Amino acid sequence: MGFYQRLIPKQSCILCMEQAKFCVCEACEAEFSNQQNRCQSCAYPINGNLDFCGQCLNHSPVFNRAYTLYDYQDLVAQLIKSFKYSQQLCIGDYFAHKLADKYQLLQDYDAIIPMPLSCQRIRERGFNQVLELLSVIKKKPQVIVDTHSIKRIKATQSLESLNPEQRQKEVKGAFYADLISYQRVLLVDDVMTTGASLNELAKTVIKAGAKTCDVLTLSRAKF
Ligand SMILES: [Zn+2]
Ligand SMILES: [Zn+2]
Repeated sequence: MGFYQRLIPKQSCILCMEQAKFCVCEACEAEFSNQQNRCQSCAYPINGNLDFCGQCLNHSPVFNRAYTLYDYQDLVAQLIKSFKYSQQLCIGDYFAHKLADKYQLLQDYDAIIPMPLSCQRIRERGFNQVLELLSVIKKKPQVIVDTHSIKRIKATQSLESLNPEQRQKEVKGAFYADLISYQRVLLVDDVMTTGASLNELAKTVIKAGAKTCDVLTLSRAKF
């Protein structure tokens, strides 16, 4: 072992390289932002004391409520990208613990359904990042993570460059569902932008027999 290698602590923060208990240190974590006031139905950050954003007042989504942990910006966006595209699984583990803490505060659900990825996307990435994010929650007793009832039958193109209407069109008919017997379902995804995919997934899940859907995402982007 070389001199410099010996100086590097076992666990260092992936963002600032300082020594850390987890792969993100407390100082970096303190910089993660999470807007206090969010739309009650889609978690879009809103100012003032409003309960719903303009879009939901016009046309509310199929899911009831969306919960999120962070704004999608700066360090959080950087971490999520490293996790998704360079397979830094320690970041996934870190976020999985944070999601589990959040899940603890929510009501009970009959089942959790992670956003299904197309086989092609899983092959490209080598893993399903949403499943990694559930790795802590799924160990809790009585939690059912259902990965088989809903399938993605249309490999949608990246939604990044599309406007909200185009996104809606692109995700239409993206999922196929077997009949399900759960009443209350929690849908989970990493990042929610317009919510088009999650809304389509909620539509599919309710058509398949669920009564209500809520949504939990790691991060909520502005669009
Ligand atoms: Zn740090
Ligand atoms: Zn809203």
